[in-house]
Amino acid sequence: MKTTFSALAEGADISINAAVARELKKEYPIFRTLPNLVYLDNAATTQKPLSVLDAERDFYMQSCANVHRAIHTIGEEATARYEKARSSMARFIGAAPKELIFTRGTTESINLVARTFGETLREGDEIILSVMEHHANMVPWQQLAERRGVVLKFIPVTDLGELDLAEYEKLVSPRTRLVAVTMVSNVLGTINPIDRIVATARSAGVPVLLDAAQAAPSMPLDVKALGADFVAFSGHKMYGPFGIGILWGSETMLDRMPPFLGGGDMISEVRLEGFSVNELPYKFEAGTPPIAQAIGLEAAAEWLSSVGLEALGEYESALARRFLDAIKDIPGLRVMGSARQRAGIVAFTLENAHAHDVAAYLDRRGIAVRAGHHCAHPLARRFGVVSSARASFGAYNLPEDADAAARALADAQEAL
Ligand code: PMP
Repeated sequence: MKTTFSALAEGADISINAAVARELKKEYPIFRTLPNLVYLDNAATTQKPLSVLDAERDFYMQSCANVHRAIHTIGEEATARYEKARSSMARFIGAAPKELIFTRGTTESINLVARTFGETLREGDEIILSVMEHHANMVPWQQLAERRGVVLKFIPVTDLGELDLAEYEKLVSPRTRLVAVTMVSNVLGTINPIDRIVATARSAGVPVLLDAAQAAPSMPLDVKALGADFVAFSGHKMYGPFGIGILWGSETMLDRMPPFLGGGDMISEVRLEGFSVNELPYKFEAGTPPIAQAIGLEAAAEWLSSVGLEALGEYESALARRFLDAIKDIPGLRVMGSARQRAGIVAFTLENAHAHDVAAYLDRRGIAVRAGHHCAHPLARRFGVVSSARASFGAYNLPEDADAAARALADAQEAL
């Protein structure tokens, strides 16, 4: 049975890809445990295939030891497996292994940049963010602004839920030191025009950080082609383990930055008077790293590559379009944003019903969606909502999942 998604034209019959998803779903043990679960909370975290669970378990069963500086055999094996995971992840995004830092997730990756690169900035220097950023790409910069007097500027979001690029261009000034934006909105599903955003920054000599938390699971990332200086993403949103993420940085930038956390592994030598810093990437990996998680993440990236990542993203977008079409006539239902380029994420509100009640109603039908502010308060405020419900699609979702959620919403509208 075919287990690779096919590239289809927009509006094409998705049954070929649905058959692939149905086959792939069998690789996810949770759907054996919970056969009736309709899981539409993939933007919060994805389920894990057996290959990821096995990779972590095999590590613990065969070569559980700490990495680096081990003389014994399983310690060397653990180091080799961990560094192989780094090389595989580097290949996955077209990077050099020394530019790939394992972190705890997107949040830590962005904090790392704010606490290192950020500390080289001066009062009055400017950072450009957007109104649609997740708090993970907003609060670390607000903290930096408090510490160093850096000024934050925000790219506005249009009613369609797209970044206002004309306004963005006006924000770039001789004091701009960084542009930090998300590739895909975790609320609106908007796929941002990263090529244009990077080109504008580049032409002004400004570095760019991309929050790829929602992009990594549904589009191939090639850091060279993206042209950014930093790319951050999380393992758990791309079918990998919790507790692991990536910060990719260009060697030039990483070399210039001071270390982040202090401790073992990030030093080459310590004297009572001070320390000297280790080479890349260890300079940014203090303490025992997430070894098993890195090995699990490698398996997740292999899984994603094997199913056809680009076509997978298109399939998720097609599921979102099907869902949008099925809910468009529900009275009082309002979808947030209608971006022309949209990933498999749809946030919505139902008039006179709290988003939590909507999510609880769907949950009683076995449908898991998220409700709340989705860690994007300023964006919710921009759209004049306190909270919204969000359905987000993944590799194992089927057209009938979208249909079931739409039917349940129609019923919720009458019941609530
Ligand atoms: N950025 C975006 C766009 C996200 O969707 C998320 C997770 N919801 C994050 C950052 C933070 O990721 P994590 O919690 O894995 O650090």
